Amino acid sequence: NAVVHWFKRDLRIADNKALRLASEKAKSKNVPLICLYIVSPGDFKAHMTSPVRVDFILRTLEILREDLAEFDIPLYMETVDKRRAIPERILELCGSWGASHLFANVEYEVDELRREARLTRLAAGRGIAVEVVADTCVVAPGELSTGAGKQYAVYSPWFRAWLAYLKAHPHHLNLIEPPMSNPESARNNFNNLFDVPVPEAPKNKSLTEEEKKRFSSMWPAGEHEARARLHKFVTERIKKYKETRNFPAANSTAVISPHLASGTLSTRTAVAAAQDANSTKKLDGGNEGTAGWISELGWRDFYKHVLVHWPYVCMNKPFKPEYTDIEWEYDQDLFDKWCNGMTGYPFIDAAMRQLRQMGYMHNRARMGVASFLAKDLMIDWRMGERYFMENLIDGDFASNNGGWGFSASTGVDPQPYFRIFNPILQSEKFDPDGDYIRRWVPELAGVKGKAIHDPHHRGATGVKAYPQMCVDHKESRNRALARYKNGLGRD
Ligand code: FAD
Repeated sequence: NAVVHWFKRDLRIADNKALRLASEKAKSKNVPLICLYIVSPGDFKAHMTSPVRVDFILRTLEILREDLAEFDIPLYMETVDKRRAIPERILELCGSWGASHLFANVEYEVDELRREARLTRLAAGRGIAVEVVADTCVVAPGELSTGAGKQYAVYSPWFRAWLAYLKAHPHHLNLIEPPMSNPESARNNFNNLFDVPVPEAPKNKSLTEEEKKRFSSMWPAGEHEARARLHKFVTERIKKYKETRNFPAANSTAVISPHLASGTLSTRTAVAAAQDANSTKKLDGGNEGTAGWISELGWRDFYKHVLVHWPYVCMNKPFKPEYTDIEWEYDQDLFDKWCNGMTGYPFIDAAMRQLRQMGYMHNRARMGVASFLAKDLMIDWRMGERYFMENLIDGDFASNNGGWGFSASTGVDPQPYFRIFNPILQSEKFDPDGDYIRRWVPELAGVKGKAIHDPHHRGATGVKAYPQMCVDHKESRNRALARYKNGLGRD
């Protein structure tokens, strides 16, 4: 007899709703709680999960297993190749443990909702109660609607409604208690589940030994690290966030997105910490940096709400159907130049090389490279969206899809299509001293002054190894304007 919690993208003990509910259920039935994690190569493949993210998840599982053991809770881990087989296998395991209840936090992507529906259906036939609860967002999708009862498709009014909701229901920011310890009998009855090894990464998603070392020192895993990062940010940098957030060289953002994506940190914990750091002890008002950071966390919830209300965004369709017929390019050579940071535009190349080296890219740089791919190269934004997922350590479908839709002007509340970033002006504005470029583009490390933004046209010497611009921005801009207008059927 047991109760089971199924971990997915909620790899933490602190502030985890389904885990706590599972623990309470186990306590009330006086049976042990068993935790479960399924590694699914098929799932990684279907969702283009990057090797660096897989590595981050597996390292997190090591830590989670140790932390749970302190509560006498085992973490059973297993590889299930095909993702369609996951519900069946989970129920088999529940059956073998005599489990009566299975808990999990909901994930909102279409595939995941279908999987959970199937699991619940199959479980009902076997006398296992499944409880899938809403914990991923601070305010659950469905809670906010316009006066006309519709879902918001524009961020600002949605965010005002989000703030108003949290002010009216402040308990939504109360952090959830950790699970209770298992009775001692858990060790006797389920002893074999306590030393299950963390599964290996699938071959097509594994890192080399050198990469493993590099990424684990760059990105320590686990919820303790996540909370330490959050604490450092809210005590040292949050107040200056508004002035500094747009400068990729400034090291001024929280860099917690890998933790939010894997669930080693809940968004609620982050919002509550920021509220606490605000001079007003409120979500808005007070310090501008703090309020601004909370609003950025809001985007994360917003994009999840969007995919719940417009699930076709999960199916490779633009949020704005009127943008379906834009004529895109599929030029592999240009796409490779973009991927490899060899476009000849230093700011774009620095960003793409940061992604390669770190599995991460600053938000301003993400906007720059996404606009460059979609508008300067006119390459189908979905190729960029996919490349990001294949390489990001913080790959999150909703935020990534939302970010690409914003930059390509095809998404929800996007950049207007005629707003086309000039990659050199962006560079001068957001990397004025060229430090970001020098850090990531070694061929340009020795270039002094403003020549760094356009070395071949500004007389920089010793930069022969750095490529010439792969397109002319002025010409590309005109082409993009024409294609967007044409796609929209406008003159
Ligand atoms: P901070 O500036 O410290 O912000 C704190 C948190 O707020 C972030 O960790 C993130 O969870 C949230 N946030 C901030 N900006 C955004 C935003 N624009 N949209 C949604 N949430 C936001 N974020 C991801 O987590 N995963 C992705 O796959 C992803 N893909 C993106 C693709 C594109 C094209 C763009 C333009 C943005 C994308 N973002 C994505 C959003 C954003 O770039 C990152 O969340 C941010 O850079 C993470 O760094 P940070 O933790 O230091 O952010």
